[in-house]
Amino acid sequence: MTNYAVISDVHSNLEALESVLKDIKKRKVDEIIFLGDAVGYGPNPNECLELLKKRCKIMMAGNHDWGAVGQTNIDYFNEYAKAAIIWTREVLTEKNQGFIKALPIIKNMKKENILLVHSTPKEPSAWHYLLTLWDAEMNFHYFEQRICLVGHSHQPFIIERLPSGEMVTHRAEAVLGENERYIINVGSVGQPRDGDSRACYALIRGNKVEIVRVKYNIEETQRKMRENDLPLSLIERLSSGT
Ligand code: ZN
Repeated sequence: MTNYAVISDVHSNLEALESVLKDIKKRKVDEIIFLGDAVGYGPNPNECLELLKKRCKIMMAGNHDWGAVGQTNIDYFNEYAKAAIIWTREVLTEKNQGFIKALPIIKNMKKENILLVHSTPKEPSAWHYLLTLWDAEMNFHYFEQRICLVGHSHQPFIIERLPSGEMVTHRAEAVLGENERYIINVGSVGQPRDGDSRACYALIRGNKVEIVRVKYNIEETQRKMRENDLPLSLIERLSSGT
Protein backbone atom coordinates (compact mmCIF):
# COMPACT_ATOMS: atom_id res chain seq x y z
CA MET A 1 0.00 0.00 0.00
CA THR A 2 1.08 3.53 -0.76
CA ASN A 3 2.13 5.63 2.20
CA TYR A 4 0.71 9.15 2.21
CA ALA A 5 1.36 12.44 3.90
CA VAL A 6 -1.82 14.52 3.78
CA ILE A 7 -1.56 18.28 4.22
CA SER A 8 -4.17 21.05 4.13
CA ASP A 9 -4.79 24.73 4.79
CA VAL A 10 -1.31 26.10 4.15
CA HIS A 11 -2.72 29.62 3.82
CA SER A 12 0.37 31.25 2.30
CA ASN A 13 2.52 30.36 5.33
CA LEU A 14 5.83 29.43 3.69
CA GLU A 15 7.78 28.82 6.93
CA ALA A 16 5.17 26.33 8.13
CA LEU A 17 5.01 24.60 4.74
CA GLU A 18 8.79 24.27 4.45
CA SER A 19 9.04 22.84 7.96
CA VAL A 20 6.28 20.30 7.27
CA LEU A 21 7.83 19.22 3.95
CA LYS A 22 11.18 18.79 5.70
CA ASP A 23 9.53 16.62 8.35
CA ILE A 24 7.76 14.54 5.68
CA LYS A 25 11.10 13.91 3.95
CA LYS A 26 12.35 12.14 7.08
CA ARG A 27 9.39 9.73 7.10
CA LYS A 28 8.47 6.77 4.93
CA VAL A 29 6.13 8.55 2.54
CA ASP A 30 5.51 7.83 -1.15
CA GLU A 31 3.09 10.62 -2.04
CA ILE A 32 1.85 13.93 -0.66
CA ILE A 33 -1.82 14.89 -0.98
CA PHE A 34 -2.93 18.50 -0.53
CA LEU A 35 -6.55 19.16 0.48
CA GLY A 36 -6.84 22.85 -0.37
CA ASP A 37 -6.45 26.41 0.86
CA ALA A 38 -2.96 27.06 -0.42
CA VAL A 39 -3.57 30.80 -0.04
CA GLY A 40 -5.40 33.35 2.13
CA TYR A 41 -4.25 34.84 5.49
CA GLY A 42 -0.45 34.64 5.05
CA PRO A 43 2.26 36.58 3.17
CA ASN A 44 3.59 34.08 0.56
CA PRO A 45 0.81 32.83 -1.75
CA ASN A 46 2.90 32.38 -4.92
CA GLU A 47 5.84 30.80 -3.13
CA CYS A 48 3.57 28.29 -1.37
CA LEU A 49 1.83 27.38 -4.63
CA GLU A 50 5.15 26.78 -6.41
CA LEU A 51 6.33 24.51 -3.62
CA LEU A 52 3.06 22.59 -3.45
CA LYS A 53 3.09 22.06 -7.23
CA LYS A 54 6.58 20.63 -6.97
CA ARG A 55 5.92 18.26 -4.10
CA CYS A 56 2.28 17.16 -4.19
CA LYS A 57 0.93 14.30 -6.25
CA ILE A 58 -2.66 15.52 -5.85
CA MET A 59 -3.81 19.10 -5.24
CA MET A 60 -7.28 20.32 -4.30
CA ALA A 61 -8.76 23.81 -3.87
CA GLY A 62 -10.37 25.34 -0.78
CA ASN A 63 -12.71 28.26 -0.22
CA HIS A 64 -9.85 30.77 0.12
CA ASP A 65 -8.24 29.56 -3.11
CA TRP A 66 -11.46 29.83 -5.07
CA GLY A 67 -12.31 33.10 -3.31
CA ALA A 68 -8.98 34.61 -4.36
CA VAL A 69 -9.69 33.88 -8.03
CA GLY A 70 -13.33 34.95 -7.94
CA GLN A 71 -14.63 31.40 -8.26
CA THR A 72 -16.67 31.45 -5.03
CA ASN A 73 -18.51 34.19 -3.17
CA ILE A 74 -16.42 35.84 -0.40
CA ASP A 75 -19.24 37.89 1.15
CA TYR A 76 -19.59 35.43 4.04
CA PHE A 77 -15.90 35.75 5.05
CA ASN A 78 -15.22 37.92 8.11
CA GLU A 79 -13.58 41.29 7.46
CA TYR A 80 -10.03 40.07 8.23
CA ALA A 81 -10.25 37.00 6.01
CA LYS A 82 -11.75 39.16 3.29
CA ALA A 83 -8.95 41.74 3.55
CA ALA A 84 -6.38 38.95 3.22
CA ILE A 85 -8.21 37.46 0.21
CA ILE A 86 -8.28 40.82 -1.56
CA TRP A 87 -4.56 41.30 -0.82
CA THR A 88 -3.89 37.78 -2.15
CA ARG A 89 -5.85 38.43 -5.34
CA GLU A 90 -3.59 41.39 -6.12
CA VAL A 91 -0.38 39.51 -5.42
CA LEU A 92 -1.14 36.21 -7.19
CA THR A 93 0.48 35.82 -10.60
CA GLU A 94 -1.83 35.29 -13.55
CA LYS A 95 -0.38 31.83 -14.05
CA ASN A 96 -1.14 30.84 -10.45
CA GLN A 97 -4.67 32.25 -10.72
CA GLY A 98 -5.24 30.05 -13.75
CA PHE A 99 -3.75 27.08 -11.92
CA ILE A 100 -6.08 27.54 -8.91
CA LYS A 101 -9.16 27.87 -11.12
CA ALA A 102 -8.52 24.39 -12.50
CA LEU A 103 -8.18 22.67 -9.10
CA PRO A 104 -11.06 20.43 -7.91
CA ILE A 105 -12.76 20.72 -4.51
CA ILE A 106 -13.73 17.02 -4.35
CA LYS A 107 -11.94 13.97 -5.76
CA ASN A 108 -12.45 10.23 -5.66
CA MET A 109 -9.31 8.10 -5.32
CA LYS A 110 -11.10 5.07 -6.67
CA LYS A 111 -8.36 2.48 -6.41
CA GLU A 112 -7.51 3.48 -2.85
CA ASN A 113 -11.16 3.78 -1.80
CA ILE A 114 -10.52 7.29 -0.44
CA LEU A 115 -12.54 10.48 -0.96
CA LEU A 116 -10.76 13.83 -0.81
CA VAL A 117 -12.74 17.00 -0.10
CA HIS A 118 -11.79 20.36 1.40
CA SER A 119 -15.01 20.97 3.36
CA THR A 120 -17.72 18.24 3.50
CA PRO A 121 -18.81 15.34 1.28
CA LYS A 122 -22.43 16.44 1.66
CA GLU A 123 -22.11 19.88 0.07
CA PRO A 124 -18.52 20.52 -1.02
CA SER A 125 -19.17 23.96 -2.51
CA ALA A 126 -21.24 25.27 0.43
CA TRP A 127 -18.08 25.30 2.59
CA HIS A 128 -19.77 23.99 5.75
CA TYR A 129 -17.61 22.86 8.65
CA LEU A 130 -17.51 19.26 9.80
CA LEU A 131 -16.91 19.73 13.53
CA THR A 132 -19.16 17.48 15.63
CA LEU A 133 -19.96 13.77 15.75
CA TRP A 134 -23.42 14.73 14.53
CA ASP A 135 -21.90 16.44 11.46
CA ALA A 136 -19.79 13.34 10.89
CA GLU A 137 -22.69 10.93 11.23
CA MET A 138 -24.69 12.86 8.64
CA ASN A 139 -21.75 13.10 6.25
CA PHE A 140 -20.99 9.37 6.37
CA HIS A 141 -24.21 8.97 4.34
CA TYR A 142 -22.87 11.16 1.55
CA PHE A 143 -19.86 9.11 0.49
CA GLU A 144 -19.23 5.44 -0.19
CA GLN A 145 -15.49 5.22 0.20
CA ARG A 146 -13.88 3.70 3.27
CA ILE A 147 -11.98 6.87 4.12
CA CYS A 148 -12.82 10.54 3.65
CA LEU A 149 -10.02 13.06 4.14
CA VAL A 150 -11.01 16.66 4.93
CA GLY A 151 -9.45 19.98 5.99
CA HIS A 152 -11.13 23.40 6.30
CA SER A 153 -11.81 23.66 10.08
CA HIS A 154 -8.08 23.67 10.99
CA GLN A 155 -8.89 21.22 13.82
CA PRO A 156 -7.46 17.72 13.40
CA PHE A 157 -9.41 14.58 14.33
CA ILE A 158 -9.92 10.95 13.36
CA ILE A 159 -13.56 9.82 13.49
CA GLU A 160 -14.19 6.11 13.17
CA ARG A 161 -17.59 4.61 12.32
CA LEU A 162 -17.92 1.03 13.54
CA PRO A 163 -20.06 -1.48 11.59
CA SER A 164 -22.68 -1.09 14.36
CA GLY A 165 -22.96 2.60 13.51
CA GLU A 166 -21.27 3.66 16.74
CA MET A 167 -18.73 6.46 16.38
CA VAL A 168 -15.36 6.72 18.06
CA THR A 169 -13.08 9.77 18.08
CA HIS A 170 -9.31 9.46 18.12
CA ARG A 171 -7.20 12.52 18.70
CA ALA A 172 -3.68 11.74 17.56
CA GLU A 173 -3.52 8.24 16.04
CA ALA A 174 -5.54 5.19 15.08
CA VAL A 175 -5.22 1.78 13.51
CA LEU A 176 -7.48 1.57 10.47
CA GLY A 177 -9.80 -1.46 10.54
CA GLU A 178 -11.00 -3.31 7.45
CA ASN A 179 -14.69 -3.03 8.29
CA GLU A 180 -14.74 0.45 9.78
CA ARG A 181 -15.08 3.74 7.93
CA TYR A 182 -13.30 7.01 8.68
CA ILE A 183 -13.49 10.76 8.38
CA ILE A 184 -10.07 12.23 9.05
CA ASN A 185 -9.42 15.94 9.40
CA VAL A 186 -5.71 16.49 8.82
CA GLY A 187 -5.57 19.90 10.55
CA SER A 188 -3.86 22.99 9.16
CA VAL A 189 -0.24 23.54 8.14
CA GLY A 190 -0.34 27.32 8.15
CA GLN A 191 -2.92 28.42 10.73
CA PRO A 192 -3.74 25.77 13.40
CA ARG A 193 -6.84 26.51 15.49
CA ASP A 194 -6.84 23.75 18.10
CA GLY A 195 -4.76 25.61 20.68
CA ASP A 196 -1.47 24.14 19.45
CA SER A 197 0.47 26.68 17.38
CA ARG A 198 2.65 24.06 15.68
CA ALA A 199 1.97 23.17 12.04
CA CYS A 200 -0.20 20.07 11.60
CA TYR A 201 -0.57 17.28 9.04
CA ALA A 202 -1.45 13.58 8.83
CA LEU A 203 0.48 10.45 7.89
CA ILE A 204 -1.30 7.37 6.55
CA ARG A 205 1.15 4.51 6.41
CA GLY A 206 -0.16 0.98 5.99
CA ASN A 207 -3.08 0.64 8.37
CA LYS A 208 -1.92 3.43 10.68
CA VAL A 209 -2.98 7.05 10.68
CA GLU A 210 -1.17 9.62 12.74
CA ILE A 211 -1.60 13.36 13.33
CA VAL A 212 1.84 15.01 13.33
CA ARG A 213 2.85 18.41 14.76
CA VAL A 214 5.86 20.37 13.56
CA LYS A 215 7.47 23.49 15.02
CA TYR A 216 8.20 26.33 12.62
CA ASN A 217 9.48 29.91 12.68
CA ILE A 218 6.22 31.71 13.56
CA GLU A 219 8.00 35.04 14.19
CA GLU A 220 9.34 35.15 10.64
CA THR A 221 5.86 34.59 9.15
CA GLN A 222 4.45 37.28 11.46
CA ARG A 223 7.21 39.71 10.48
CA LYS A 224 6.34 39.32 6.79
CA MET A 225 2.63 39.70 7.52
CA ARG A 226 3.30 43.01 9.32
CA GLU A 227 5.49 44.13 6.45
CA ASN A 228 2.57 43.56 4.07
CA ASP A 229 0.01 45.23 6.37
CA LEU A 230 -2.05 42.09 6.78
CA PRO A 231 -4.66 42.28 9.62
CA LEU A 232 -3.24 42.23 13.16
CA SER A 233 -5.66 39.59 14.42
CA LEU A 234 -4.45 37.18 11.72
CA ILE A 235 -0.85 37.85 12.77
CA GLU A 236 -1.52 37.32 16.48
CA ARG A 237 -3.56 34.14 16.19
CA LEU A 238 -0.54 32.26 14.81
CA SER A 239 1.15 32.56 18.24
CA SER A 240 -1.76 31.05 20.12
CA GLY A 241 -2.89 28.53 17.52
CA THR A 242 -6.49 29.70 17.72
ZN1 ZN B 1 -8.47 27.07 5.68
